[in-house]
Amino acid sequence: MATFGNLSARLTDTFAKLRTKGKLSAADVDGTVREIRRALLEADVALEVVKDFTGKVRERALGDEVNKALNPAQQVVQIVNDELIGILGGEQRRLEFAKTPPTVIMLAGLQGAGKTTLAGKLAKWLKDQGHTPLLVACDLQRPNAVTQLGVVAEQAGVAIYAPHPGNTGVEGDLTVGDPVRVARDGVAEARSKHHDFVIVDTAGRLGVDAELMKQAGDIRAAIDPDEVLFVIDAMIGQDAVATAQAFQEGVDFTGVVLTKLDGDARGGAALSIRGVTGKPILFASTGEGLGDFEPFHPDRMASRILD
Ligand code: GDP
Repeated sequence: MATFGNLSARLTDTFAKLRTKGKLSAADVDGTVREIRRALLEADVALEVVKDFTGKVRERALGDEVNKALNPAQQVVQIVNDELIGILGGEQRRLEFAKTPPTVIMLAGLQGAGKTTLAGKLAKWLKDQGHTPLLVACDLQRPNAVTQLGVVAEQAGVAIYAPHPGNTGVEGDLTVGDPVRVARDGVAEARSKHHDFVIVDTAGRLGVDAELMKQAGDIRAAIDPDEVLFVIDAMIGQDAVATAQAFQEGVDFTGVVLTKLDGDARGGAALSIRGVTGKPILFASTGEGLGDFEPFHPDRMASRILD
């Protein structure tokens, strides 16, 4: 994973300087914290998250656990590791299952974030565990989206519920149907055909807009999902915070999926999103292939950053 390359290198340099010292003075700690702060800001981590993070690291680094440690520098690295796990969400958060199937998962996010691709990945991942997911195509905005979800469903070997051209009222036109109705009918179809998961793909726009939010909010209200996953491209850097906040207000998502973690992102979105929204990251998407997908583990991500 190329992500965090720069951030990792900066932190490694900082810790290398620290290792040449025995006991650490307050000035050593302050210098280290300053360098960590700069590295995080350069990685596009949100300012409030950086402040909170460096405040915690500083307080602990000046305390007894470092003072009394046999290897103070190593102890500081340990503290940074712990606090990174903290801002990434602490414990791994697993998918919530409905008490009575089907478990309904709604996907939301900007166009191009990787929602449709993710729908296929998630469906395959569930299928590989013996589940019987149904994909529901509610992105009736982008002309090709329904077809694209059909391709993804076929690759994943799972069923799809999609409006037929005739259903929209305009022959051959997939962009005119009512996405709220399709979502509701899709969930009903899953129930009647005994699918234990439903994954509802919704429309994205290039930027956050009121109409998109209203539609996503209406779909949420109509199908009462067990999970609403906000899909966000890890490459979008500083914009991640404002986008996430807009979606949080608009659809009140329950969890986050980070996509394109294989790209050359600076890591800011990954490190900011939990702190800014308070919502856990559930999955990470790391490529275009159906298998490039994994549950998100805060501790593993922290280790990658500090590698
Ligand atoms: P949607 O508009 O949110 O449904 O986004 P798509 O699923 O159509 O994805 C947009 C583009 O990003 C496509 O070209 C995907 O192949 C690509 N993509 C999606 N997820 C990833 C990922 O994790 N890594 C990379 N490198 N590309 C991805």
